[in-house]
Amino acid sequence: MPPILSPVPQGAIDCDLHVTVPSVAALLPYMTEAWREMIVSRGTEGLELASYPKGAPIACRPDWRQAGDLAGLRQHALDAFGTGRAILTCLHGGQAVHSEDLAQALCGAVNDWLVDQWLDRDDRLRAGIVVPFQSPLYAAAEIEKRAADRRFVQVQLLASGEMLLGRRYYWPIYEAAAKHDLPIAIHAGSAYRHAPTSVGWPSHFTQDYVHQTMGFEAQLLSLMSEGVFNHFPTLKVVLLESGVSWLPAFLWRAIKSWRGLRGETPWFVQSPGDLVRRHVRMTVQPFDAPGAAEVERTIEHIGADDMFLFATDFPHHHFEGTDVLPPGMPAALIRKMAIDNPMATYPRLSDPRPNASGLRETVP
Ligand code: ZN
Repeated sequence: MPPILSPVPQGAIDCDLHVTVPSVAALLPYMTEAWREMIVSRGTEGLELASYPKGAPIACRPDWRQAGDLAGLRQHALDAFGTGRAILTCLHGGQAVHSEDLAQALCGAVNDWLVDQWLDRDDRLRAGIVVPFQSPLYAAAEIEKRAADRRFVQVQLLASGEMLLGRRYYWPIYEAAAKHDLPIAIHAGSAYRHAPTSVGWPSHFTQDYVHQTMGFEAQLLSLMSEGVFNHFPTLKVVLLESGVSWLPAFLWRAIKSWRGLRGETPWFVQSPGDLVRRHVRMTVQPFDAPGAAEVERTIEHIGADDMFLFATDFPHHHFEGTDVLPPGMPAALIRKMAIDNPMATYPRLSDPRPNASGLRETVP
């Protein structure tokens, strides 16, 4: 094991760590014969459908590009930071395809692949359930199917899907999640049913990435305005890879407007600030503030240090070496966001050994 160089407390919980399905071919063993035949006969088994494909070098830190297998993940993402547990976020095109049935087949196979290739091989690993949220019915069924495996600790959605997440259409997902103590994780990303900006399609990745913030803001206000937190009072929402510094200005504007307009939503009785502090958590990579003073001020403006969750966002390129902590983080907050806050956010992390069947160790 390499020496621990990271300033992160030993045993930290990494709440956003990516693994990627190499191609659809890797999912075929977890699909029915009918789907296997359809995918192979159409010649689509070579598609990557992944979050950092080989053809997009900017999407992955160069020194981590070759670290996508279990040995690489252990060395670069777990041991290097002294990580105690890590929650895998597997972004996959199964959450973006138009066919609800194909989405169900792909997402189900991704979850089987996560168990087989990762969770069964290192007991530090947990994962989000990749749900086909093109169909809330199918998504809720996938949650029910996975809920007994308590290594699945949250339900994973994208920041931009087919419609705003507060709509009642999606409530079967929240009902299933709340029933099984699973937070709803919303990760940066889009199914590209809509342009990432509210005024049309951008030309460059930079625009797409910066405008993810619009998606997060829209979803937060939708969840609050439609009454999701009234109906599911125990539900937690975790924003993954959302950035942080946009939140204070968004909340100020939301609170100001809510005060004047709340007559149209009489159930929206708690201010957006209070609701967010109670129900919403967010990972701190990337922490999009330039220096220690701005980081401190952003934390102060948000006014709730139990909202922050440690994450490396491995293998995306937000920092060099093991310099994962934003500057200006007080030591007490580092400990909270690395251990205490994740434990409070994810009830399933308290399970002593959720994979009672034992590990299937295959890596020499
Ligand atoms: Zn991420």
